[in-house]
Amino acid sequence: MRRTLLIALAALLLAAGPTLAQSPGGAGLGDSYYPTLGNGGYDVQHYDLNVLYDFDVRLLMGTATIEAVATQDLSAFNLDFRRLTINQIRVNGAIAAYEHRGTELTVIPAQPIPAGATFTTVVLYEGIPGMGSTQMTELGWTHHENGVFVAGEPAGASSWYPVNEHPLDKATYTIRVTAPAQYVVAANGLLKETIDRGAMRTFVWETDYPTASYLVTVGIGDFVIEEQEGPNGLPIRNYFPPDLAEAAAYDFGRTPQMIALFSSLFGPYPFEAYGVVVADAPIPFALETQTLSLFGRRHVDGERGEEITVAHELAHQWFGDSVSLADWSDIWLNEGFAEYASYLWYEYLESREALDEVLHHFYNRLAESILPPPGSPPPDDLFNISVYVRGAMTLHALRARLGDEVFFRVLQTYYDRFKYSNATTGDFIAVAEEISGQQLDAFFDAWLYRLPLPPIPELGWEPLPPPTPAPTRTPPPTAAPSGG
Ligand SMILES: [Zn+2]
Repeated sequence: MRRTLLIALAALLLAAGPTLAQSPGGAGLGDSYYPTLGNGGYDVQHYDLNVLYDFDVRLLMGTATIEAVATQDLSAFNLDFRRLTINQIRVNGAIAAYEHRGTELTVIPAQPIPAGATFTTVVLYEGIPGMGSTQMTELGWTHHENGVFVAGEPAGASSWYPVNEHPLDKATYTIRVTAPAQYVVAANGLLKETIDRGAMRTFVWETDYPTASYLVTVGIGDFVIEEQEGPNGLPIRNYFPPDLAEAAAYDFGRTPQMIALFSSLFGPYPFEAYGVVVADAPIPFALETQTLSLFGRRHVDGERGEEITVAHELAHQWFGDSVSLADWSDIWLNEGFAEYASYLWYEYLESREALDEVLHHFYNRLAESILPPPGSPPPDDLFNISVYVRGAMTLHALRARLGDEVFFRVLQTYYDRFKYSNATTGDFIAVAEEISGQQLDAFFDAWLYRLPLPPIPELGWEPLPPPTPAPTRTPPPTAAPSGG
């Protein structure tokens, strides 16, 4: 994600669901920042989401079919689901009981599910999604004047379907959306089928790659579809509002070259397609929704004024989407990496010298600031600018220390080892130490977890000393050392 407005993060701590029977799955996955996001006891393989959206009354009617494998005996299990009304739940075909408290939906199947069994849960529901959500972290399904977009990191998915809402449980998706026939529907993966139903039309999208729930998206609107081809025939499909189509085609026109650059630096592009959807709405952020990044009108100017953001969201397909964090406290692994990749695009267009000039300026600005370090940022300020800029600067300092050849081998090895999976900061440090043969604990500790900005001796960059007070005629007395 990359935002131009910083919006404070809502506390998401809600009471855990009730303890039910002998062996219920957990109401969370142990995330240190969001203990109730995700649920324990099962591993979702595939979501088949079938939703009909009535624009006039903003009503969504849905059927979610969830295939999962039990990782323990389950007398009950939880899904994350907000505010919509449940009409029926079946597990393996039999009606199941349930309780819905806050964001926790507890399902009690008629027959307990033994560890290792595959089971199918079907939830029938309806309601008006997203009403009352103002935090972008949980926006989710968002109706706007000219259509719908879906975004919400980390907790937007549960606004429109029942879900195991944590990147630790990725799954594949079939997304069937029925909307008024004048609209086009875009979603993750590849469009498999379009079914005309008179006044309505159904679009069937499918992705065969594991996807974290916050990266699932749907775009509904009056779109012009523009197609490009990426490296090795990769399909690129872009969805633009008609009045912006020409400007957007120019602004996003270098996507194939960006994919080629990042593939050469990090490893092959991870998914079956790429592209962007530009919502016809003034949304203040962009989001790296998998295979189909989301932008708003403000990102299009016909002059590539936001191309760094275009590169940033694309780079997330490798770092964030394919290699996903395992705990939200490690958000710098997403944002620092995507931000640095966007600087690498700038370096590719200009030169290493030009990049160093810009980054030296950023470095001095960071030195003057009192921003927290980027590792484990304040939970109520997860997307603060230090996570992005000092996170990226951490990688620039690592590159200066290791040299280009070793540095890019570290990135490639890290990507290759953790693609389609999850990683921690410790995993990245371990790869960096393994490939470089250097002891890097102190380096990462200083860059990620200590307030003072470390120097980058290889580049001759160091924080300027604090300004000396102007001399006065009568020097003030030296403060006596206190015991505090
Ligand atoms: Zn980002």
